[in-house]
Amino acid sequence: MALTEYKKKRKFDKTPEPGPKEKRTRTGRMFVIQKHRATQLHYDFRLEVDGVLKSWAVPKGPSLDPTVKRLAMQVEDHPVDYAKFEGVIPEGEYGGGTVMVWDYGTYKPENADDVSQALQKGELKFSLNGKKLKGSWVLVRTRDRQWLLLKHRDYYTTEEEVTEIAPASILTRRTLAEIAEDEGGNIKKASTGDPKQVPPRTGVKRRKKGQKAKIWHSNK
Ligand code: MN
Repeated sequence: MALTEYKKKRKFDKTPEPGPKEKRTRTGRMFVIQKHRATQLHYDFRLEVDGVLKSWAVPKGPSLDPTVKRLAMQVEDHPVDYAKFEGVIPEGEYGGGTVMVWDYGTYKPENADDVSQALQKGELKFSLNGKKLKGSWVLVRTRDRQWLLLKHRDYYTTEEEVTEIAPASILTRRTLAEIAEDEGGNIKKASTGDPKQVPPRTGVKRRKKGQKAKIWHSNK
């Protein structure tokens, strides 16, 4: 009963979040990252495994810099339908705040055919094919529910902060404040999850010469 904990934590007559139903996507290998302004801003990293989304809360979000280790706290499994959830969880309810679909796509395990088993052993190497995130990554357990999310060095490596360069929803292009405004949430609180301003593209930290990383969609 992989979604027992998910179900126990929520009141489905109070929250717009999807119910605890297991299912499988066509590929069975979906990933999604949700930017979530709850008590603290964090990024929920989710991988589809055996009919549910294995989930980690990453306080600082993913980094495309291979020298940066990002803490990832494993949380309860979520239903696959959660990947499409963007909106507002009412204040006072579990996870109350604004949720944005920050990136999604598919993943491919690199060190195992059995993803579930690799996670049980505490190390999963995988490549992401998302809209913002691509290339090779690893999740390593350090203790209990505490993991590290790390980028492997490859074509998509960059020192630029992808969370700052590409802050908005990949589904709707909205910021957290705009989602809160549209869905009746707390705009002021949500806006503290938005960058003050999009930093100039010509900062001190830049990608290595000759490396072109396509990390977000241009507005067409
Ligand atoms: Mn969360």
